[in-house]
Amino acid sequence: MQVKEFEVRIFDKELLEKELLDNPKGKNILKRYFPLSYDKWKLLDTKPNNLFDNYEPLEYVCCGKDLLIEKTGIIVFVQKRNTKYVCDTVDIYWVCKGECDEKKRNYYETQGYSTAWEDIGDIAIPGKYLSWNMAILNRMYDNIDRYEKVAFEKLKQFIISISQIVLRDQTDEQIKRLMELSQIPSWG
Ligand SMILES: [Zn+2]
Repeated sequence: MQVKEFEVRIFDKELLEKELLDNPKGKNILKRYFPLSYDKWKLLDTKPNNLFDNYEPLEYVCCGKDLLIEKTGIIVFVQKRNTKYVCDTVDIYWVCKGECDEKKRNYYETQGYSTAWEDIGDIAIPGKYLSWNMAILNRMYDNIDRYEKVAFEKLKQFIISISQIVLRDQTDEQIKRLMELSQIPSWG
């Protein structure tokens, strides 16, 4: 007797998980039939959301690392010394920790500026993201901090960029509504 050979593919839990998570339609199946696992997975998922049509990395030119993905970078505030403000920020940049950071910091410090920094990985924590944004608003309102135009624009650019990994995905309905809202003139 001849035995016909055929290939067998066993869907163990790892393979099943991979197949479900690797494509967007799989996520809908997961959500529908494994709601508890889906909720757990969502909490651990740190992939960028769909805030923009296309994901925009937060890159530092020196080595091209995407600081949103690697979360090894810092945001640095370059500040003037001895002004009437506690922090008088003239420029803001983001950079990876270590050599790149040291080079950049040395440059500004020899020009007579001081620098303050915050971990990008920390600001990516939703609670920290919120308190960090609130602190900036409060300190501006209370005239403790001041930002020059360039620094203020960079600060907004950073907040927009990091929102891609802090905020949750927008549903199709919300995206549709967002498009309707953009037709209405507003103060935004
Ligand atoms: Zn670097």
